[in-house]
Amino acid sequence: MKDDYEHFEVSKQKEYLYVIKENISLVHPVYRNDPLNMYLILGTHSALLLDTGCGLFPLKPITEKLIGERKLLVVNTHTHWDHILGNEEFKEIYVHENEVQVVSKPYDLWFLKDSPCEIVKLYEVKNFLIPPAENIKTINDGYIFDLGKITVEVIHCPGHSPGSICLLTNTGELFTSDVAYYGDTFLPKINDFPEVLETLSKLIKLCEKYDNLELYPSHRIYPCDKTLITDLYNGIKNIEKLWDSRKSFDFFEAWQIDDDKFRYYISKT
Ligand SMILES: [Zn+2]
Repeated sequence: MKDDYEHFEVSKQKEYLYVIKENISLVHPVYRNDPLNMYLILGTHSALLLDTGCGLFPLKPITEKLIGERKLLVVNTHTHWDHILGNEEFKEIYVHENEVQVVSKPYDLWFLKDSPCEIVKLYEVKNFLIPPAENIKTINDGYIFDLGKITVEVIHCPGHSPGSICLLTNTGELFTSDVAYYGDTFLPKINDFPEVLETLSKLIKLCEKYDNLELYPSHRIYPCDKTLITDLYNGIKNIEKLWDSRKSFDFFEAWQIDDDKFRYYISKT
């Protein structure tokens, strides 16, 4: 089943799972990870929305229509701009403690001011400063959202960002956020790779513990199987060997390296 909205594309993946897609390349062509996947998980009494997108058009009315009488909980998988700019529409946002500060103040989008895309005018009217949500609630590794019948466990997965989380349901889904997806992969500086690899090892073990987990990344294709995590792990391990092929990509202040499955942007700072 598929419904088209003007800006978002909504599809029903399962009885209790919707995907709300948004194309982030509309904001600047350097962002190629279309679509951004926001997920809405429906329990019996509550629903959990994963991320709030680019904040260009109202998201809340769409979620309200889908959740019926349920209480809505909203979590940011991490605080990069494409996952949080709709926060101001919602009263309360859950976020990992390492990134609370980022979403507790207006978010500065000045880096988008020279975008060739007309749509950034919607940010310009706000002076490229997007207000935060009213209340920010802190979560940590092991926190559990009880939605009624469905529970969702927070797994702290630092690397892509210090407070990145993945979310594991008791119904066999692992939402991998920006920690793992097939596409342009944003990594910290090379000295911090051990932390990224440790996170991926943790997820590989999780996939071994729970048979047939379905992986739902925050960008591009879904669902994936655990091969995604091993592909990414092996790819990152191999970056050192490809180091001489790196190119500078100034917009992201990063080194760009490509292999046959991923494009990596490795932070210089
Ligand atoms: Zn993202």
